[in-house]
Amino acid sequence: LSKEIGKVEKLRTVSEIAASISHEVRNPLTVTKGFLQLLRDPKLTDQKKNEYIETALEALNKAESTITDYLTFAKPSIENVRILDLEQELTYIENFVEPYAAMNNVKIETNIEKDIFIAGEDEKIHQCLINVAKNGIESMPNGGKLQIDLSRFGSNAIITITDTGIGMDEEQLERLGSPFFTTKDIGTGLGTMVVYSIVKAMRGEINVESTLGKGTRFTIFLPLVQTNQFEAQI
Ligand code: ADP
Ligand code: MG
Repeated sequence: LSKEIGKVEKLRTVSEIAASISHEVRNPLTVTKGFLQLLRDPKLTDQKKNEYIETALEALNKAESTITDYLTFAKPSIENVRILDLEQELTYIENFVEPYAAMNNVKIETNIEKDIFIAGEDEKIHQCLINVAKNGIESMPNGGKLQIDLSRFGSNAIITITDTGIGMDEEQLERLGSPFFTTKDIGTGLGTMVVYSIVKAMRGEINVESTLGKGTRFTIFLPLVQTNQFEAQI
């Protein structure tokens, strides 16, 4: 487990990352600029216009999520720490990714234990788990099942997100979490890096198991909030 987390430490320097980020953001901006210029043509059909607008918006969304992911990475410290009820947070995640899952023919199933509390920042935990869930969904181009479970073991909350997707080979597993590692045409390779850095900031651990052609399971361990800590806050 600690080996997986150790990957965060192998990251490139900030300036190297910044250089790549500007590249990652410039590309979609160039695309958007191009399509906005095309929209000037008065002879465009409504259908073409909508197509161009969609493409431009998609590119902007990509630039936006690159920046969000990068900022989280650059500033992974957890600031607005509150007691979080993980049942609530996981329900939020499920609802958030549900339309994306439906679009991809993916069925979400959950098995969520109640009364599991951690100390953390809701936005960070959302960003972390949404990245994992999205990757799971994207690994199932022909549909499948995304299983989201929550339980506790000892002093940890255990979240598992399991897909029935394409899986990863050993080399991919090894590279998982390093910046800009992506196997997708429009991927940024920042999502998993952010996942690792948020879990690390929350003093948790990650374990990833994957079988090519069968699927992948992310297991995230987060320290449960101590009862006395909890009472002190409410
Ligand atoms: P992106 O999604 O933009 O490619 P990520 O950092 O989120 O970047 O993921 C990096 C890579 O890790 C993906 O491109 C994919 O190859 C691999 N990966 C991550 N999660 C999964 C998964 N659940 N199943 C298969 N491959 C995955
Ligand atoms: Mg991703």
